[in-house]
Amino acid sequence: MTRETIRCAGQVVLAVVVLAGLPGCASQKAGLEVLEVDPQLSIVLERGANSAIFVGEEEVLVVDPKLGKGAELLRAMVADEAGGRDITVINTHYHYDHVRGNRLYPEARVITGAYTREEWEKGGTGAEYPDETVTDTLVLDVGNEKVLLVNMGWGHTLNDMVVQFKEREVLLTGDLVFEGRHPVLWGAHTVKWQAALERLLAAHYGAAYGGEEITVVPGHGPVGDIGAIERMRDYFADIRAALDDEAELKALREKYKDYSGLLFLVSFNRTVKVMREELGGGQ
Ligand SMILES: [Zn+2]
Repeated sequence: MTRETIRCAGQVVLAVVVLAGLPGCASQKAGLEVLEVDPQLSIVLERGANSAIFVGEEEVLVVDPKLGKGAELLRAMVADEAGGRDITVINTHYHYDHVRGNRLYPEARVITGAYTREEWEKGGTGAEYPDETVTDTLVLDVGNEKVLLVNMGWGHTLNDMVVQFKEREVLLTGDLVFEGRHPVLWGAHTVKWQAALERLLAAHYGAAYGGEEITVVPGHGPVGDIGAIERMRDYFADIRAALDDEAELKALREKYKDYSGLLFLVSFNRTVKVMREELGGGQ
């Protein structure tokens, strides 16, 4: 796998990554934007959240099956590729844009982090409580790939899982990473979140992990490399260090001015407010 800066048609410079010799630009497939890592692993971008489909010898894995129309299109693609194989759905966390599509897989085994049934149902997504939850780690052996599920604990939500395709060195971070946009902080704890990002960075920089070659798929935003995790960590670290310094906050507001958000619900100011509240300082 090599890396370079790529300019995709009609888009700004995208990820600095070339997956398995293929250009890192997504192509249209079945109405969705798909980045094919290889014939077995596809990253399917946005339309809810970033998802993955892995076609193993005996089973198919679907990570975060989107919502609405995106979920239906993804389901059709999975049906196309699954043949008669069993399907396992993995939810990186319980937000609706990641789990709403679960209902389209009534026969599937569903795995997520260790939410209690009560916590899951409080999420209000209407998705059924999963068949299996992961407290620490779980390895799924799917033929020529080992898929490592790691519950990172409370960060973006109470149980954020990351999903690593170990042979292919592809890591789906779920919403522990938002690339180029302000993070959604509903139910988040930014101190724990930042610590989780530090642990991820430590794990994937390690030589044993071949860290620098890893391809990172954020929950939202373009596919890239480990820099995406660093930028998310820096975002929290930058703002945390400036919480009492209006001039510094102003400079950071400028630094992150191109990040997208959602009105006042997901924004620079919102992040500042939540981080101050965590300190017990109000406002
Ligand atoms: Zn989320």
